[in-house]
Amino acid sequence: MNAPTRPGEPIVVDVALGDRAYDIVIGRGLVAALGQRLAALRPGAKVAVVCDVTVAALHLAAVEAALAAAGIPCARVIVAAGEGSKSFATLERVCDELLAARIERGDLVVALGGGVVGDLAGFAAAITRRGLDYVQVPTTLLAQVDSSVGGKTAVNSKLGKNLVGAFHQPILVLADTGLLDTLPGREFRAGYAEVAKYGLLGDAGFFAWLEANARDVFSGGPAREHAIATCCRMKAAIVARDERETGDRALLNLGHTFGHAFEAAAGFSAKLLHGEAVSLGMVLAFRYSARIGLLPKTEAERVEKHLADIGLPTRVKDVPFRWPDADRMMDLMAQDKKVSRGRMTFILARGIGQAFVTRDVDPNDIRAFVASQLA
Ligand code: NAD
Ligand code: MG
Repeated sequence: MNAPTRPGEPIVVDVALGDRAYDIVIGRGLVAALGQRLAALRPGAKVAVVCDVTVAALHLAAVEAALAAAGIPCARVIVAAGEGSKSFATLERVCDELLAARIERGDLVVALGGGVVGDLAGFAAAITRRGLDYVQVPTTLLAQVDSSVGGKTAVNSKLGKNLVGAFHQPILVLADTGLLDTLPGREFRAGYAEVAKYGLLGDAGFFAWLEANARDVFSGGPAREHAIATCCRMKAAIVARDERETGDRALLNLGHTFGHAFEAAAGFSAKLLHGEAVSLGMVLAFRYSARIGLLPKTEAERVEKHLADIGLPTRVKDVPFRWPDADRMMDLMAQDKKVSRGRMTFILARGIGQAFVTRDVDPNDIRAFVASQLA
């Protein structure tokens, strides 16, 4: 399924979605050949690159040079950095700027950035001229292992995060792992929580590999490419089985139901990044699984140790904040969009690498557990 690779060669992971199939190409320095790849994929296409101001300052010049080298005309659409750009107002501006740049069907939108730009530009591409093709060039670890793959695009509504959007698959994901060298350490660690998630949800061998090799993933050698490719393979396989999240795509939400309550309580602010909330949430999911006898306590402790070694929060007290009480946290968990017909969905585990989706949880027991964690 995946092309054989030699050291130094990009790793290619295919996302098998029939006529919407695409490649995820992973490797260091890939941006330099972006123009050649796009020219091969869509000869004669114009390109609009969407990115935020921070990424524009760091990486836009290299992207534009790569496009120019292949003779590709290119417009830029620059938005503010941060979650606030996943708004209707910014979406409208991005769509207008794509139209003003005369990006037409057959042309390409390039989302150069983290999950915010990927979700925003992907959604703008989905609705502008009733659908433009787009390419993801993810620049955060979270985006390289998670948000750039799978075709979920969205902006936020005042009623909640990611509530207005579309499934719109990219035609290529180009993950240049060198782009991550400029990522602040805290953002890299937060993305790493999602990396560990893949091991915890379905691949015990990968989790053990991470325990031994995390340092090299951070320092940026071939271990980084291997880790990102492993995550992308798992996400691609899950998405190919369940593109629209009617079944086991929900496994990807390991740690997210508990995590969501903390993220929401902190007001989705810099006090607690998404990946940090996921770290805490995954530990709670394993601790709760141990509490109800699904796995030995030592297994939950192993999860906690690895994430704590990375510098991620694993206990409520690791995040200095006046957390609400357990009843309020239950309300926040129930507002998670994974709730269906009033029943909360939890991802629990029978061991590392053995997560499963269940709606068969006792809310009173969960409340008592959450109270014990807040104490
Ligand atoms: P982000 O896009 O806001 O990036 C985090 C910060 O890092 C920003 O300030 C950005 O400017 C900066 N940055 C990005 N790349 C950089 C680089 N190479 N060097 C230096 N700074 C850089 O946040 P994120 O964590 O990448 O993504 C979070 C978003 O992703 C959320 O909106 C979330 O809802 C979404 N998401 C979507 C999916 C999906 O399937 N579509 C999955 C997970 C998360
Ligand atoms: Mg997540």
